[in-house]
Amino acid sequence: MRKKLVVANRKMNGSIPGNRAFLEGLLQGTQDAIHADYVVCLPHPYLYQCKALLHNTPIAWGGQNMSRYDSGPYTGSVSPGMLTEFGCEYAIIGHSERRSRGHETNQSAGERFEAAVKAGLKPIFCVGDTLEEYEQGKTDEVTFRQLNAIIEQSGVENLANGILAYEPIWAIGTGKAATPEHAQNILGFLRNHIAEHNAEVAQNLRILYGGSVNSKNCASLFTMPDIDGGLVGTASLDTQEFIAICRAASEAAAT
Ligand code: PEP
Repeated sequence: MRKKLVVANRKMNGSIPGNRAFLEGLLQGTQDAIHADYVVCLPHPYLYQCKALLHNTPIAWGGQNMSRYDSGPYTGSVSPGMLTEFGCEYAIIGHSERRSRGHETNQSAGERFEAAVKAGLKPIFCVGDTLEEYEQGKTDEVTFRQLNAIIEQSGVENLANGILAYEPIWAIGTGKAATPEHAQNILGFLRNHIAEHNAEVAQNLRILYGGSVNSKNCASLFTMPDIDGGLVGTASLDTQEFIAICRAASEAAAT
């Protein structure tokens, strides 16, 4: 039985007092929502604050990106070891906002996945199609290629150390979430593809849906058999809205 997981991707938002209100509110609001796991990904400078406020609590935290290198002349980058030093358990890898600006290719995303696992992090690996690809019926082909970057780089068994997230680019930040049926189709397709390599890894891997998840649409997404939770951007900026999503995941798991 896979435990539901809800991840906040707060992107380049926040402030020390704002984060404190969010994290303390979240701790309180999810206290009795014990059937799901929760992760918050804040901008790197605030990871120290996560460590201070979330240490020894059920809520984990992670980076929004990381370098595949341990150290060196990579101005502006953060190494996997730096994330673990700040208590991170997770790191988002291959988010479309990084892929689309040309910083990330399938190959480099695959390499980062491997580097994250080696450092003891659980990578949250994002795949997703553009609107054009979706309209041309190429979603399977595109996500298949993105997923294969990990399988080719480090073997399907390594997927057991991470999380997969399907995030259609046309749904991110647009308010137009994929229908639960569409999301289920793609997640089921990805899981079946993994099962062709290793049935146990496929069975145990948590696969999330991301793209305009909110408190109104989350329950119907979370009841789909292959949707193990959500990667949440915009709605994580509103503490009460995000708590409602977390609680819905816990309720979906409990029923
Ligand atoms: C995201 O960027 O990972 C995301 C899912 O954003 P939003 O929820 O705003 O669509």
